[in-house]
Amino acid sequence: MLVPFVDLKAQFQALREEVMPRITRVMEEASFILGPDLAAFEEKFASYVGTRFCVGVESGTAALQLALESLGIGRGDEVILPANSYIASALAVSAVGARPVLVDCDANYLIDPAMLDDAVTPRTKAIMPVHLYGQAVPMDAIVDVARRRGLYVVEDAAQAHGARWDGRHVGAFGDVACFSFYPGKNLGAYGDGGAIVTDDAALADRLRLMRDFGQRKKYEHLIKGGNCRLDSMQAAVLDVKLRHLDAWNDARRRHAAAYDARLAEIGIKPPPLLRNEGHVYHLYVIEVEQRERVVEALRERGIATGIHYPIPIHLQPAYADLGLRRGDFARTERSAQRVLSLPMFPELTEEQIAFVADALASSAPLAVA
Ligand SMILES: *Cc1c(COP(=O)(O)O)cnc(C)c1O
Repeated sequence: MLVPFVDLKAQFQALREEVMPRITRVMEEASFILGPDLAAFEEKFASYVGTRFCVGVESGTAALQLALESLGIGRGDEVILPANSYIASALAVSAVGARPVLVDCDANYLIDPAMLDDAVTPRTKAIMPVHLYGQAVPMDAIVDVARRRGLYVVEDAAQAHGARWDGRHVGAFGDVACFSFYPGKNLGAYGDGGAIVTDDAALADRLRLMRDFGQRKKYEHLIKGGNCRLDSMQAAVLDVKLRHLDAWNDARRRHAAAYDARLAEIGIKPPPLLRNEGHVYHLYVIEVEQRERVVEALRERGIATGIHYPIPIHLQPAYADLGLRRGDFARTERSAQRVLSLPMFPELTEEQIAFVADALASSAPLAVA
């Protein structure tokens, strides 16, 4: 049996009848840029998240960058974010000329709210919580610090479409929130894509200008914008896929529960779970000893795995200029050495989960401390 890490081919086969007519229609009508499909998807996605506005853009990274820029964040400013994230979170801060101020994660792999107050300086403009692996950050704690210290909250929800905190979807807590529609994300396009959501009408308006050369009317440029639009074809695909998102996330949660039960039998701790509704298991991440040997044992059985992420942001050569060292963020560094992501996608079967668990069981001496 082969168990891929994600299976986008299986997902396409299941969606073919639904999605191909929509793609064909975009081609037939030649409405490739800023067409009705984009407006329709933006409206539905905003309503799904529970915000007033959604602005589709070319990627999750562009979403973060534009969101920061739209808030006036740039050179001389600081943004606080977790060291334990995908590098794009920090790159967006750097791209607007601001300084990423990293803090360690907590036992849930998420930004540690207890670290925030000490990280605030007179230059701090925003906190960027990352709903990592699909688990919602406890947003009341983040919003509380932000209110007290007069900071913006920019959510990085790239891995957490549909995750909830206190019954509300992530993306509805920050001043702005950013999503990625990279193909492997819980809601993925057939190429790159992203979105920014907000309740602020003026901000949404500025973001629409920024993503389209600063124009409201063709050839009249009100600000120095760029070209960062979400294609109509991708919007049409996302419009179809959004209808399936909740069912897909339910399937991910069922698979996670099945993994949890099987792994408990062999002494492997399940991933931390703050609240059930809050987790949409973009990734199912366990910790193992002797990771390389476990990866190899699974690979020999045809099971693909991932590591998210092997090198924390502060130890990346690209961020040597931050002047941070090994030992600065103990929790983040420890998990970078131990985390292992198991196959997780909605189409995963019970047999595949059992097969992965059995394979882990036979390598348990390597996996368990
Ligand atoms: C995927 C991802 C991004 C970047 O999104 P792209 O669409 O790939 O640019 C940003 N932050 C996190 C946490 C991500 O997982």
